[in-house]
Amino acid sequence: MKVPLLDLVRQYRIIKGEIDPAIAGVVETQYFKLGPKVAAFEERVAEYCGTKRAVGCASGTDALLLALMAWGVGEGDEVITTPYTFFATGGSIWRAGAVPVYVDIDAATYNIDPAKIEAAITEKTKAIMPVHLFGQCADMDPINEIAKRHGLVVIEDAAQAIGSEYKGRRAGSLADVGCFSFFPSKNLGGYGDGGMLTTDDEKLADLLISLREHGQSELYHHWTIGMNSRLDALQAAVLDVKMNHLDEWSDGRSRNADYYNERFKDTEIVTPFKMDGARHIYNQYVIRVPDRDGLKEHLKANDVGCAIYYPLSLHLQKCFAKLGYKEGDLPESERASKETLSLPIFSLLTEEERDYVASTVLAYVAGNVR
Ligand SMILES: *Cc1c(COP(=O)(O)O)cnc(C)c1O
Repeated sequence: MKVPLLDLVRQYRIIKGEIDPAIAGVVETQYFKLGPKVAAFEERVAEYCGTKRAVGCASGTDALLLALMAWGVGEGDEVITTPYTFFATGGSIWRAGAVPVYVDIDAATYNIDPAKIEAAITEKTKAIMPVHLFGQCADMDPINEIAKRHGLVVIEDAAQAIGSEYKGRRAGSLADVGCFSFFPSKNLGGYGDGGMLTTDDEKLADLLISLREHGQSELYHHWTIGMNSRLDALQAAVLDVKMNHLDEWSDGRSRNADYYNERFKDTEIVTPFKMDGARHIYNQYVIRVPDRDGLKEHLKANDVGCAIYYPLSLHLQKCFAKLGYKEGDLPESERASKETLSLPIFSLLTEEERDYVASTVLAYVAGNVR
């Protein structure tokens, strides 16, 4: 049996009857740039996340950059974030002109450890950018409390976490601004790139609307310099259809996670830790094992799709060498990058497939095939 890490064709076959006319609808109206489809989808995301406003943009990376620009974060500023994340988190801080300051993660949740944030604050610190990694929210109460005490802005990197909940509230509504990605492999993924910002701050939302179109106040009149970063109307049409299924698909991922957790219990496999009262949407199902690389080879040899998120912490990336970090500086992040592996978790996985995935993992871990 061959099990892919993710299969979006199965999903398309189910929603083809909704998707195809939605795409044709955009083409027929010629509303390619913003327009009613994008506006309607923005409103829907705001409602889903529980914020007053949502502003579409071209990608999750741009959402992060736009949020930093909107808060005036740039040259001479520092932004505290996690090193154990997709590159865009640190990259967007650098591109804004600021310096990323990496704070180690909590070994259980893989999210930034709030207890280590305060020691990293300096007079240059402007913002904290926690990531809701793999689909579980960072521990936002202590993060917001620290930010409030020091007058810092909090920007959620919620790229992997649409629909994820923290103490009854949704990702994107837990700080000053939330940043989402609609990259195809996210729980809500388009057929290309897309992104969104969510906020309760009306003024900030209006500013983002200006920044995403070259800082214009009215057409061809520019009060500042922004970007070209709009949410494509074709993507909005696709995403609007997929939104009808988002919770059902995220719940399916969660059921698959429960299944694996049961199969892997009482073994050396560390299954994902779920915080009390959280809704984890399992954008990734990530296990921790001592011999990660061996398990990965074994899964590959047996046609089980898997991936390493992420093999190298951001503080050790070549492009950040000038920041002066060295190996051993952020040990939990470095250990996670050596011990974790992501398994197939998408909702349309069949029962036979997930049994095969679990059995193949267990055969290796039990030493039967080593
Ligand atoms: C996917 C992702 C991004 C970037 O989103 P794009 O839409 O690919 O630009 C940023 N941060 C995290 C944590 C992500 O997973």
